[in-house]
Amino acid sequence: MRVQDGRAVASGGAGHSTGGSGLTRRLLIDGRLVEAERTFDTLNPATGEVLGQAPDATVADAEAAVAAARRAFDTTGWAADAKERARCLDQLHQALLDHKEELRELTIAEVGATRMLTHANQLEEPIKLVPYYAGLAREHPLTEELGEIEIRGQRHRRWVEKEAAGVVAAILPYNYPNQLALAKLAPALAAGCTIVLKGAPETPLTTLALGELIASHTDIPPGVVNVLTSSGVEVGEALTTHPDVDLVTFTGSTATGRRIMAAASGTVKRVFLELGGKSAMIVLDDADFGLSSMFAAFMICSHAGQGCALTSRLLVPREHHDTIVEQVAAALAGVTYGDPSDPKTYMGPLISERQREKVHGMVERAVAAGATLVTGGERVDPGFFYAPTLLSGVDPDSEIAQEEVFGPVLAVIPHDGDDDAVRIANNSIFGLSGAVHSADTDRAVAVARRIRSGTFSINGGNYFSADAPFGGYKQSGIGREMGVAGLEEFQERKTFGAVVS
Ligand code: NAD
Repeated sequence: MRVQDGRAVASGGAGHSTGGSGLTRRLLIDGRLVEAERTFDTLNPATGEVLGQAPDATVADAEAAVAAARRAFDTTGWAADAKERARCLDQLHQALLDHKEELRELTIAEVGATRMLTHANQLEEPIKLVPYYAGLAREHPLTEELGEIEIRGQRHRRWVEKEAAGVVAAILPYNYPNQLALAKLAPALAAGCTIVLKGAPETPLTTLALGELIASHTDIPPGVVNVLTSSGVEVGEALTTHPDVDLVTFTGSTATGRRIMAAASGTVKRVFLELGGKSAMIVLDDADFGLSSMFAAFMICSHAGQGCALTSRLLVPREHHDTIVEQVAAALAGVTYGDPSDPKTYMGPLISERQREKVHGMVERAVAAGATLVTGGERVDPGFFYAPTLLSGVDPDSEIAQEEVFGPVLAVIPHDGDDDAVRIANNSIFGLSGAVHSADTDRAVAVARRIRSGTFSINGGNYFSADAPFGGYKQSGIGREMGVAGLEEFQERKTFGAVVS
């Protein structure tokens, strides 16, 4: 694959199916790469032009994929052979490394990820999940001894065995397709599950590329991994209600998460949810304001604000509000944005015109509600760019402080000391992440402990890596992805008791 004149075109290899106009990739169902009857367009968000076509799977395709996954789970040795699973994950890792540059160009062209970010969480970090979970497939103990108990003179040995949870339906959002696919696929396979992975309608090709690598470069048996893409919600709905699916792992908006939880309740599936966020960065009065302003500005512009854990509320000491706003505005002026394939670009486009309209509408309503627009608030053409935007004097109960924007829009809210900052930070239905800046690390950690969220950064500290559990409190989700906790999401526990004498 290469990018030409802003358009990605396929250059063969890796079993990729190429169509007449750009990229047409295939679904993976029961070990076979198949065309769908219909296709839908996928766009390059940096230009707004059509990038290629993706197969538009039907409910019948979803049913065939679930049937294949069920058969592979119930009738093959996959779930019982951890060594073979680790070997297959090693092959997948090698295939990802061998095709990294093609995946990079595709991720830039379809997701609008900057080249800079593909060296981090958009591609290279996610690839590391695969050897990490191959290691856990080899080494993580599956048996836990509980010891013996005596009942009426008889000794009973008790132990717990962990086994695969079964057939998994994995549903992805558009923003970090490689990270989110591999954070579900790698632990599910390590645990011995089989899986139907559905990519997001905005970024189908990136997910289909993984399916094609699996089909062409690994010995993962037919049916163990199935990959679908579709333009509508019917395929997702079919997966979350299907009686043969044991577990749903979903990343996306809280609104969709609620619907999925309700849909899965009909067959009492396990539901793992990674949902939205409205995380707060708290600046305490002893912090280095210049440094924290820089962090706040660059954080909100990372992937144009389309990250669930980004700190989109900046809580600053009331008496320093104006100084910090000035410093953040200066830092935002230094954010380079534009062509995501340029190695110097820090911020790329939003994913779609629809997303851009949503962001702009929220900024307009924030100003109408009394916030001050310090900088930004503009659409930038061509493509779906939105200028880095700063709103100051934001009311903590207003829409812009309560709802996820998913754009490069930072809301500054004044606070009156540590207790007040904690109260404002917790005034949210979300609880995904947060950050605190202070000259005193103990004081910062004490504040962080009082915030109800799944992850936290102290003075710019990084918590995100393959071995670190990630997930949300409150309406930001249920469960943890990555780390050992991420493997255990895909395991059942069977408790045994046996008379030993
Ligand atoms: P979305 O909820 O609109 O869609 C996500 C996926 O759900 C898509 O594949 C979509 O086709 C599918 N879907 C939609 N309705 C469905 C239904 N009724 N049944 C089954 N599937 C359905 O989310 P999005 O706009 O693609 O992504 C942005 C959202 O994802 C943001 O809210 C963001 O915070 C969240 N997100 C969370 C995390 C996290 O780890 N917590 C990570 C990334 C993104």
